[in-house]
Amino acid sequence: MENKSWTRIIKTDKNQRSRIAELSVRNKKIVTPLFMPVATQGSVKALSSDDLINVGTQCLLSNTYHLYLRPGLDVLKKFGGLGNFMRYPKAILTDSGGFQVYSLSRLRKITEQGVHFSSHIDGSSHFFTPEKVIDYESAINSDIWTHLDVCVKNPPQYSEAKEALRKTKLWAKRSIDHFKKITQEAEEKPKLMAIIQGSIFKDLRKEAIEYATELGFDGFALGGLSVGESKKQMFETLDYIMENIPKDRPVYFMGLGDPVDIWMATKLGVDMYDCVLPTRNARNGQALTTYGKVYIKNAQYKNDDTVLDNECDCYTCKNYSRSYISHLYKSGELLSHRLLSIHNIRFLLKQTDMMKKAINEDRFDESFNEFLNKYNQK
Ligand SMILES: [Zn+2]
Repeated sequence: MENKSWTRIIKTDKNQRSRIAELSVRNKKIVTPLFMPVATQGSVKALSSDDLINVGTQCLLSNTYHLYLRPGLDVLKKFGGLGNFMRYPKAILTDSGGFQVYSLSRLRKITEQGVHFSSHIDGSSHFFTPEKVIDYESAINSDIWTHLDVCVKNPPQYSEAKEALRKTKLWAKRSIDHFKKITQEAEEKPKLMAIIQGSIFKDLRKEAIEYATELGFDGFALGGLSVGESKKQMFETLDYIMENIPKDRPVYFMGLGDPVDIWMATKLGVDMYDCVLPTRNARNGQALTTYGKVYIKNAQYKNDDTVLDNECDCYTCKNYSRSYISHLYKSGELLSHRLLSIHNIRFLLKQTDMMKKAINEDRFDESFNEFLNKYNQK
């Protein structure tokens, strides 16, 4: 594992936590703070890969569980991986499927060896092991991989969280051993991130961090947060994690997409995020804007000839009025999904650009306040 060589910390803010880092993986460069749109099934809903490049994405997240079930790994292998299949030339991160097995599939059974489950599509039986998931990510040919973990219902009892962590640690070891074996000869090695579990229990989080550090993972993906606990619990746990985590590798908060939360987590030192929020909200007719959320179906936008967000530089805001998008949405026209998704993703990417600028100028906390003052103005 070559942790130091792939992560270059470019600048840390005077608040001592927020930072800009450059990640180099397989001839691709990623600059953090990073937001990754979610291409669940090899597609960010309603957007083409050209849309994703034009909007400024650097990296997408895709789901091993979904791709394994459909289209299937034989198809992806034939194309040399997901990037070629969906014609997206930038970086791709894959999650391990642990969370989807837990949340989507039926008849789950977790053993020491792995997890048995039935497909949510056709009920067929499958068995994921840590080693198999590493092989699947190899077939998907993504750039950044994560390992199979055990998820628990939320909120978990301490004993449940402890048992899930015990298995996750065993699976982490098996995953990294298998990863080293199969990538030994690769000229351009992918990176493997550890999943840090432990719910809101500090001693378990500490144990998870120490174990993952000892095994030498390329980064840390934080699981089991933003899953139903209170905001106060979430940020207290995150603050504790960030105080105790090594600073030489990227930290990725899985499933965080609210702009205020992303600013707050970056303030605490997190580097990477993913969420379906910008595209899911788009399909529900909701736009994220500098001055708060806009519900495009509201009557007030029927004759509104202004753009969604006059501080936005996206394709949608350069070309279309709120009135037109409102009309599309209310008429059930699919174009409204595309235009709102482009805008919402651009909005989150612009937030990360603003964070970078702020860190470069040593004024992260001030910029965070400026953002909040506008965003909460309504
Ligand atoms: Zn826009």
